Amino acid sequence: MNQPATLTDQIAVVTGASRGIGAAIARKLASLGAQVVLTATNPNQLSKVVAEIRAAGGRAESRTCDLTQPEQIETFVRLVLETHGHCEILVNNAGVGWFQGPLHEMPPETLEHMFAINLRAPYLMLRAFAPTMIAAKRGHIINISSLAGKNPVPNGAAYAATKWGLNGMMVSAAEELRQHQVRVSLVAPGTVRTEFGSGLSSQKSALGAIAPDDIASIVALLATQADESFISEVQIRPTLKK
Ligand code: NDP
Repeated sequence: MNQPATLTDQIAVVTGASRGIGAAIARKLASLGAQVVLTATNPNQLSKVVAEIRAAGGRAESRTCDLTQPEQIETFVRLVLETHGHCEILVNNAGVGWFQGPLHEMPPETLEHMFAINLRAPYLMLRAFAPTMIAAKRGHIINISSLAGKNPVPNGAAYAATKWGLNGMMVSAAEELRQHQVRVSLVAPGTVRTEFGSGLSSQKSALGAIAPDDIASIVALLATQADESFISEVQIRPTLKK
């Protein structure tokens, strides 16, 4: 806990927090004093991250939620709001990808799965949390997008579509919600060293992939900016291309 505790009165929900970027974001927000609610589908992995956060002096709890299941999202949000009564930070981070071939060879159920997690779930989460944030005139919805949402991605077309879609949806929602003092932001990373996709990032050189903690630092920057400041989008690349 070597950072000033600036988020002590805030509840932060982080999806996909069982590993990778989401776990790093959860650890970072907890280190800044937030009470963090971690969610994903793997309860053992979630408990491990919660235990690490608590061992470091942070406040964290976890609840499983399969983001492909709208009724589970509804229950998750209801339980968070019943328990805490408020939520100031929502990080839509969970995501899946498929990079195994051209679009015409991808099975339709893969597209549906990816769209459910990467695009529909952020919408359902925003839909469920926004009314509480609007009532409080305070909230920040941070979406982990990708540079794949800015570029063509051969052999990853449907993944790219989810991120292009996420960008369009969230920059629009940002304009709807800013009048209520609720900020909606996008973070678009290039390759991050995690187990995402087929784990290709592990083959990159040290400077060829971003660390999950680097993304967490960006999220912390967004979550701690001054009330009058609204950083709407951050792009972050590895220093080296290879
Ligand atoms: P990981 O594969 O390491 O982690 C993905 C997370 O999503 C896990 O916590 C996983 O938890 C969760 N998840 C997967 N399916 C579901 C589901 N059905 N319901 C709930 N949670 C689910 O990926 P990263 O940490 O690398 O990726 C995080 C985000 O960053 C994603 O949105 C990704 O698109 C984006 N991104 C990643 C990049 C990279 O190079 N790694 C680059 C640019 C963007 P569990 O298995 O327990 O359900």
